[in-house]
Amino acid sequence: MVYRITLIPGDGIGPEVILAAKRCIEATGVKIEWEEALAGEEALNKTGELLPKQTLYSIEKNKVALKGPITTPIGTGFRSVNVSLRQTLDLYACIRPAKSYEGTKSLYPDIDLIVIRENTEDLYVGIEFEKGSSQAKDLIAEIEKYTQKRIRSDSGLSIKPISSFASERIIRFAFEYALRFARKKVTVVTKANIMKFTDGLFLESARKVAKEYTNRIIFEEALVDNIAMQLVQKPKNFDVLVLPNLYGDIISDLCAGLVGGLGVAPGANLGDKIAIFEAVHGSAPKYKGLNKVNPTAMILSGVMMLKHIKEEKAAQKLENAVKEVLKEAKFVTYDLKSSPNDPTAVGTQEMAEAIIKKIKDR
Ligand code: NAD
Repeated sequence: MVYRITLIPGDGIGPEVILAAKRCIEATGVKIEWEEALAGEEALNKTGELLPKQTLYSIEKNKVALKGPITTPIGTGFRSVNVSLRQTLDLYACIRPAKSYEGTKSLYPDIDLIVIRENTEDLYVGIEFEKGSSQAKDLIAEIEKYTQKRIRSDSGLSIKPISSFASERIIRFAFEYALRFARKKVTVVTKANIMKFTDGLFLESARKVAKEYTNRIIFEEALVDNIAMQLVQKPKNFDVLVLPNLYGDIISDLCAGLVGGLGVAPGANLGDKIAIFEAVHGSAPKYKGLNKVNPTAMILSGVMMLKHIKEEKAAQKLENAVKEVLKEAKFVTYDLKSSPNDPTAVGTQEMAEAIIKKIKDR
């Protein structure tokens, strides 16, 4: 079988890490016809659009994409391509595994957890009212009328919508993910004791959906402040975490930090039909074209992609090869060496070659 997958090199270090990931994925023997598509700065220069229609069409048609990071131009009036992709394609679930690999700067040797973040609601919908604006003043007056609570007149306001629909959808997604990948426990994370009508609704939705999975998956509830501490002290106690957008953003970065940082943190954004796999890190423009950065995060995103298309054996082969190269710590990039100036550090493509060699030698 030949898979057709959209490949978006992206900006900055994107093309380098995408090339490394593509070569490693191909070395597993899985046959892929890559359909290259533009997004980001190069797309803007060539087509006048950051996210050309052709790119969206390619992803919608192929249903699976491997994407490099994209620079968000500051002060140009353009929206983030990443946000546009998530909204346009309704990629409502952001998945970030946090797994310890020997040879990385993981703070514990045995972390293996999955953070699932709701991608479409919460404070990220961008409904904001600037301090002093007539809308902010009107809204403050309305809120005071309805709640008899005073808001300082020099306040800015951000709206936090959380719906039953999106909450139930992401929680069901988390349970289904747990079942599919033989996970044992789902922990829902909120601040429901303080925000009863938003986080409280998310929690209620979780309790309702969890009933459908009784005796199959353990269900647990946690408060976000408490889990931040517990993750640092006892990350092994957790398996799958499901969170609203803002907490998901923060906790997934915390987990990336626990297992060694951006160079090794893979991710995916999924909807019911479409899946985009990408590293957590950004386009790190200062390293562009230097063949220097760590390709591991992008390659591990490729492992997730292979699992998604049900090429489990190839995924395992690739993950094992990455694991061995990391453990040997010889053919690895500067960030994985004990000192960033270590002259034995190899480049992005050389690390990919070491991984490919491990696959071929098996
Ligand atoms: P960044 O992740 O690009 O880089 C921050 C630092 O992390 C780098 O300077 C580097 O020291 C380190 N780093 C990142 N990736 C690495 C790798 N593979 N190997 C080794 N070290 C690595 O974050 P930033 O500088 O805040 O963002 C740069 C641009 O990327 C911005 O325009 C931002 O909007 C964009 N961004 C895009 C995505 C995405 O497309 N998914 C995600 C985050 C940021």
